[in-house]
Amino acid sequence: MSIQTMNRTVSPFSSRVLDVDESLTVATFARMGELKRRGADLISLVAGEPDFDTPANVKKAAIEAINKGCTKYTAPASGLPELRQAIARKLKRENNLDYDPSQIVVTCGAKQVIFDAVVALINPGDEAIIPSPFWVSYADQVRLMGGRPVILKTSGETGFRLTPRALANAITPRTKIILLNSPCNPTGEVYTHGELGALGDVIADAGIFVISDEIYEKIIYEPARHVSIAAVHPGAGCRTLIVNGFSKAYAMTGWRVGYGAGPPELMRLIAKVQSQETTNTCTISQYAAIEALTGTQERVETMRAAFRERRDLIVARLNRLPGVTCRLPQGAFYAFPNVSGLYGERVRNDVELTDYLLEEAMTGCVPGSGFGSGDHLRFSYAASLPTIHEAMDRIEDAVSRI
Ligand code: PMP
Ligand code: GLU
Repeated sequence: MSIQTMNRTVSPFSSRVLDVDESLTVATFARMGELKRRGADLISLVAGEPDFDTPANVKKAAIEAINKGCTKYTAPASGLPELRQAIARKLKRENNLDYDPSQIVVTCGAKQVIFDAVVALINPGDEAIIPSPFWVSYADQVRLMGGRPVILKTSGETGFRLTPRALANAITPRTKIILLNSPCNPTGEVYTHGELGALGDVIADAGIFVISDEIYEKIIYEPARHVSIAAVHPGAGCRTLIVNGFSKAYAMTGWRVGYGAGPPELMRLIAKVQSQETTNTCTISQYAAIEALTGTQERVETMRAAFRERRDLIVARLNRLPGVTCRLPQGAFYAFPNVSGLYGERVRNDVELTDYLLEEAMTGCVPGSGFGSGDHLRFSYAASLPTIHEAMDRIEDAVSRI
């Protein structure tokens, strides 16, 4: 579509928006929903959200907030003071990080604070380093602001780790930020204290900002332990935005509460962007989030134990498939097998294999190319053990017919 202005033909739409794709995970999730609504006997291992219900104490806190009339804008827009205090206490208690509540901004999910940080930091042409495989939204959020994603490929053979050397080699005078995600969606890898320290040296030397996405912090399996680069390396930490939220640990994806904590100047800019954008996230959800942080943590533990059992099952079954290898994820709830051994005349790549499994196994997953690796598929194991068994029986049968 185009319109005629004077002598020029111009697109009526923003080329930045036209040039990026809809979020692959969100789009695939919507496609699964549509197929299920039409009655398809489909197993979806697509969703990036816990299949558990939001804990009862959290729901109760929201209902009480409604009944008490806490249903207006929050003042300040950056989040309820009690919630920001609870987050500051959590960051101290669990992550050994000191933030004043004024350095915390509560947003409509972690996704929004990442985007707001990109808006606050990126000028057209600035570079953002993104280790691959990566969560689908990072690169497109950078592109939306006219920035240039610099994708640094890592491979399963080296544990999907970004090395300090690869990072140092990628830094140019245009580099503004690096996006780190540990535990990682989609690989489930978790960086160690030592690895983050070594990356921190390069980051501090270069003086770039870090967006440290720690949303899967609580979905982690021993012996792996979560540490934040901000706690490991003060030189990098003073230029780090910690990103976290309630969607995953508390099964609260629909409530839309996330937050960022970071240096005062950056947080003031992020708060300014949010004030022009969403004002604040849902007030009722913020009361629920206070309860999530300050109430019993029992459900977090039971969910983690369930995810661990499911991980062990799906990874063992994937590794039984000829032509497929899958590393054991240390965190999050995704298996990210290398399926390139299945490629040939019948299915040539990850997108065709995803379609094949949808048609022949009635099982949905996400092609790895959306996360930066066409050799892989992403399976969410936020599904019950019988569901995973059934999905893997179907996949086993479909794969034997390739
Ligand atoms: N980061 C990662 C790595 C994710 O997987 C997700 C899931 N959507 C998000 C951020 C955003 O989470 P939310 O906006 O629901 O807090
Ligand atoms: N983070 C989830 C996923 O990767 C939810 C969808 C999204 O926001 O991308 O599937």
